[in-house]
Amino acid sequence: MDRKPAARRALAMPRSAIREIMNLAAGRDGVIHLEIGDPDLITPSHIIAAGFAAARDGWTRYSPNAGLAELRELVAARVAGRSGTRIAASRVIITVGAVGALYSAVMCVVDAGDEVLIPDPGWPPYESMLHLAGATVIRFPLRPENGFVPDVEQAAGLVTDRTKAIMINTPSNPTGTVYPREAVEAIAHLARQCGLYVISDEIYEDIVFEGDHVSATEFGLDDRLFLVSGASKAYAMTGWRLGYVVCPDDLVSVVGALQEPVVSCAPTISQKAVEAALTGPQDCVGEFRDVFRRRRDMVAEVFAGTGLLPVTPHGAFYALIDIGERFAAGGSFAFAKRFLIERNIAVVPGITFGPSCDRYVRVAFTIADRELRRGIEELRDFILSPA
Ligand code: PLP
Repeated sequence: MDRKPAARRALAMPRSAIREIMNLAAGRDGVIHLEIGDPDLITPSHIIAAGFAAARDGWTRYSPNAGLAELRELVAARVAGRSGTRIAASRVIITVGAVGALYSAVMCVVDAGDEVLIPDPGWPPYESMLHLAGATVIRFPLRPENGFVPDVEQAAGLVTDRTKAIMINTPSNPTGTVYPREAVEAIAHLARQCGLYVISDEIYEDIVFEGDHVSATEFGLDDRLFLVSGASKAYAMTGWRLGYVVCPDDLVSVVGALQEPVVSCAPTISQKAVEAALTGPQDCVGEFRDVFRRRRDMVAEVFAGTGLLPVTPHGAFYALIDIGERFAAGGSFAFAKRFLIERNIAVVPGITFGPSCDRYVRVAFTIADRELRRGIEELRDFILSPA
C-alpha cells in the first residue's frame, strides 16, 4: 500500500516497552504496578474547584492557540522568579501537557536528516518524536559511575555539522538524577559554541529531594532555548493535560501556530485550573514531594547493601535497579516479563530507555507505600535468589 511518509514513520515508530509491559499486566489480576509513571495522588481540591467554577462560568470554549493571556503571564512570572531572569509572557506557549511542548519544540526546529542528541537512558518519547520528524537520534551516555550525570565533553564529541539540538531532562526520568549546576552550564556553553538548540525538559523541577534544581534558563540561552515544564507532576494534574514551553523570541509564533492543526489549544478549563494552581496555596507541592521522598527513602532502605541501586535518586519518582549477573545476559525485557509472570509485579525494562540501560529495570514510586514495599522487596529477593 502506498503510504504517506508521516504514516510510514508512525508505523515504524519505536514503541515504548512500558506499554508492552502494561498490556501484558492488563490481562492479569492483582498485579503490583511498579511500572506506571502516574502517581496515585489526587489533584488538590482548590484546583479541582477552580476547574468546576471555570466550566460553570463559561470557560468552555477555545482559547487562543498560544493559551490564555493571564496564564501565559503567570507562567512567565513563575519561570522568571525561579531563574532570576526576565521572561516576557509573549515567549510562553501553553500546550497539551509537557509532551505537547516537547513535540512542538521538536517540530519547530528539527528537519528530516538533522541529528539530535538525547540522553541514554532517557524518556522514550524523545526518540519517538524525533523519529516522526525524520531526524537521526544520537544518544549521549549517562553512566552510573558518574551518578547518571551527562558527561558534556563526551556529548560534545558527538556533535557534527548536522546536529541541530540537544534534549536534556533534569530531574531525570528514569534515573532520578538532578543535574548539577556545572553540567547544565556546560550544556549551555556547548549549545552556544556549536549553535545548537537546547530543549530542556524540566517537568520534575518541583520534585527534588537533595540539592537544587538548576534550570537551563539561568545561562542566557534565550535565543536557543526551549524550556519545557507544566502542571502534571507538581500539582498531580497528569490528566488535565496542561504544559508550557518558553521559546526563543523569533520562534514563538511558529510554536503557537503549530498548536492550530494538531490541538487548536490546550483545554481551556484546564488552563483556568492551572491559573488557580499557580496563584493558590503551594503547600500541596511540598506535601507531594514529601510523599515521593518517603518512598524514595524506602527504596534506598530495601536495596541498601545489595549493590542493586547504583545511584540513589535525588529527584522525580523513579529508580533504576540493576538486575544482577544472573539475569543480565537475558536482558531487561526478558527479566521484566518473567518477573511479571512469576511474581505478578510489573516493572519497566531498562532497554526501553536506551541501549545502555539493558541491565536495569525502572521502578516508579507511584503506588501506596505498603504495596510499593512488597513490590520492591520481592524485586530485590527475586534478583538475589539463586538460579
Ligand atoms: N517528560 C518526562 C521526562 C516525563 O516523564 C513525562 C511524563 O511522564 C513528560 C515529559 C510528560 O508530561 P505531561 O504529562 O505534562 O505531558
